[in-house]
Amino acid sequence: PGHSAYRGRFAPSPTGPLHFGSLLAAMASYADARANRGIWLLRMEDLDRTREVPGAADLILRTLSALGFEWDEGVAYQSRRTDAYRDALDTLQARGLTYPCGCSRAEVARAGRSGLEGPVYPGTCRAGLALGRSARTERFRTPAGAIVFEDGIQGQQEQRVDDAVGDFVLRRADGIHAYQLAVVVDDALQGITRVVRGADLLLSTPRQILLQRALGFSRPGYAHVPLVLDANGRKLSKSLAAAPVDARDPLPALRAAWALLGQIPAPADLHLDAFWSWAIPEWRIARVPSKTAVVCPNGSSPR
Ligand code: GLU
Repeated sequence: PGHSAYRGRFAPSPTGPLHFGSLLAAMASYADARANRGIWLLRMEDLDRTREVPGAADLILRTLSALGFEWDEGVAYQSRRTDAYRDALDTLQARGLTYPCGCSRAEVARAGRSGLEGPVYPGTCRAGLALGRSARTERFRTPAGAIVFEDGIQGQQEQRVDDAVGDFVLRRADGIHAYQLAVVVDDALQGITRVVRGADLLLSTPRQILLQRALGFSRPGYAHVPLVLDANGRKLSKSLAAAPVDARDPLPALRAAWALLGQIPAPADLHLDAFWSWAIPEWRIARVPSKTAVVCPNGSSPR
């Protein structure tokens, strides 16, 4: 690998074992990187230690390895990169692009009209903290105007972040840097040129593009794969059907994920290595359904 400038990544959060839904994102990012003779990196998004399940990070790595995924370079751990996030926040602060906010979640929920992902921040502290208030969070001063980008699977996207989200949090009240900031810093530090991930993050991408601009980072290409729903239309990772992928018998899950990604069916009787040697040259991102969700045929994760 590594004969082109392509650098992709898979960035699981260690909140549990690898589920079938995450397997689609892992497979699409891996196949797309390898089909383009690119580098494929792993990043553990373990920034929020309160949500981490002990042992999940290692379990995810072992499962990926048992499924035949081969990553380049060492695994990056967000929990070890706090300095980089602090530097980025300092840079934004120095550029006048952030401000301290004293509002609690409940206050924002009361005062904000409803937006894309919960209440839109009404700008209460934008012009300065009210007297006697102390800072809880640090927010990004979201500029007005639309962000437009071409998604490699979902097509053209347009969002007015100021209108849909408002000034968003970069450092939370508990001191943890927000996902939106960390992901932008990490994608830049790891030199990522192509982000292939789940469509649950499609609406976050414009916020990430804003932060890349503000920090002077280049913008990777984006492609968002459909989420997997069970027969009741629930997100697989949240339903009873979200059984962990079986690392001892990986082919049924790999074949099912490959099919849901719209790829041509794999020949029967392939063992693990043969599956991947067959699959990578056959990968076509254009075949991935341009939908934000697909239904898993039998309503449960293949085991
Ligand atoms: N850690 C995120 C997740 O597991 C993915 C972040 C990303 O790919 O940008 O949903």
